[in-house]
Amino acid sequence: MAYISLYRKYRAQTFDELMGQSHVTVTLRNAIQQGRLAHAYLFCGPRGTGKTSTARLLAKALNCERGPTPNPCNECRFCRSIQAGNCVDVVEMDAASETSIEDVRTSIIENAKYPPMEARYKIYIIDEVHDLSAKAFDALLKTIEEPPPHVIFVLATTEFHRVPPTIRSRCQRFDFHRGTIADIAKRLQQVLDAEGFRAEPAALHLVARAADGSWRDALTALEQVIAFSEEGVITPQTVYHALGMLEDETLMQLTDALIDHDAGKALNLLDGQMLLGREPRVFAESLIQHWRMLIQAALHAQDRAGLYDPTQWSAMIEQARRAGVPRLLSWWERMAGALSEMRSSGSPRAILELYLLMFASETPTASAQPTPQAAAPSPPTPTTPQSTMRNHAAPHAPAPEPAAPTPPSEAVDPAYANQLWQQKVEELIRRSPAGGEHLRGSRVVIEDGVIRLILARQLAYAYFKQVARREQNLAHEVRAALGMPNAPVRLECSNEPPPQPPPPPVAESRPLEGEELVNAINETFNGYEVEGES
Ligand SMILES: [Zn+2]
Repeated sequence: MAYISLYRKYRAQTFDELMGQSHVTVTLRNAIQQGRLAHAYLFCGPRGTGKTSTARLLAKALNCERGPTPNPCNECRFCRSIQAGNCVDVVEMDAASETSIEDVRTSIIENAKYPPMEARYKIYIIDEVHDLSAKAFDALLKTIEEPPPHVIFVLATTEFHRVPPTIRSRCQRFDFHRGTIADIAKRLQQVLDAEGFRAEPAALHLVARAADGSWRDALTALEQVIAFSEEGVITPQTVYHALGMLEDETLMQLTDALIDHDAGKALNLLDGQMLLGREPRVFAESLIQHWRMLIQAALHAQDRAGLYDPTQWSAMIEQARRAGVPRLLSWWERMAGALSEMRSSGSPRAILELYLLMFASETPTASAQPTPQAAAPSPPTPTTPQSTMRNHAAPHAPAPEPAAPTPPSEAVDPAYANQLWQQKVEELIRRSPAGGEHLRGSRVVIEDGVIRLILARQLAYAYFKQVARREQNLAHEVRAALGMPNAPVRLECSNEPPPQPPPPPVAESRPLEGEELVNAINETFNGYEVEGES
């Protein structure tokens, strides 16, 4: 028997089975029931949220022998052929691979003129429609403007902003949402039940968290976990191993080691993970993600709390308090820079080690210095009493301490402003990797109502300065991120030298000679390549 992936096997076959998108399905069902159909639909949303599944459901609902009906029978020849993807009147096209005007002409425009061969409607489903060329869009536009009565278009996109406004305005738009952890975990449980596997709830929670809102990714990940698991119950350990994720426990311990300046422990933890076959880059990414979540924890972002179980979340709040937000931000920023160094280096592990050693050996600045002794006897006031939490505990309160170099009248907390900006940077990198990458390691400083955007690299500064429109767009994004729509934005480049690696431990101070010297030179220039893992 042919193997069918879980995602295909458990693809929603009815509107009821389509999870987390009731705002879409209710409207579509009503429209089908009342015969008020649009000629073109635009399904927008992140990958794996059910856009194509919904398009096929719509095709079935309209072409079912017992329809049009919001509840297609799934038994008639149309329902079955649509489900199997071989109905002649339902044309699926992937604009990512068929982008040209010729593709659109032959598969759609010429074809749409003729009535359906056997079904009631001819339905064109174009996936990743934003990938069509400008000419292809133009050609398509005429057909979408005046479609033959038997034709319905469903355009799906993960990048709404890349769909031309002329097309958008002729479509009825639906936005598909990412799944919540709870909903996705629930769905995973159903699938496991049907497949005859058992899992600890915490394990499913982890899979759901890794899927980042995508139903498809969740099922693909689950399949990986099932393939990896031996007899018995699937545990969180199985998930960590199967998906190559770092255990929350490891991330907590490593962060503790850095807070406690325990460089030895940090390196041991790193060694342990490398022995398990973890990638240095995955390690760095997991750390960044962990620190990001710690900052959320410090800011009491309740919507993030659902990502972790309550015990873990309280432990993270406590760890965030010990580390202090400024220090976490600094680690995050520099580790993001390290990550891009690691991408182009033959020895990512050495870079990771270097940064961990630096972090562990640093004494935080006075304002970021936590006071561990104060933790126990601290009075049970509602807000966190530590000086490290001063800045963000009450972001809108006036700065209480004259000693702190806070801007005179600006109420935006610097740590918070930077956090908002880092979120925006992540978003921009996802949206436009080419430009977004230049923003890695950048930070914002607000001074006298002026937003200073400090880029980490001269190259990045040049990139935005070269083209006026780039700089304007960037300024717009900064203002939007910080919620300061009218503030002037000043672009700057960091003058700080890049973080200096600590000097290598020198075993002997006498000058090297002869073969020793040659060896030393070789080590200096080739050491990384020799020692580094591929
Ligand atoms: Zn049917």
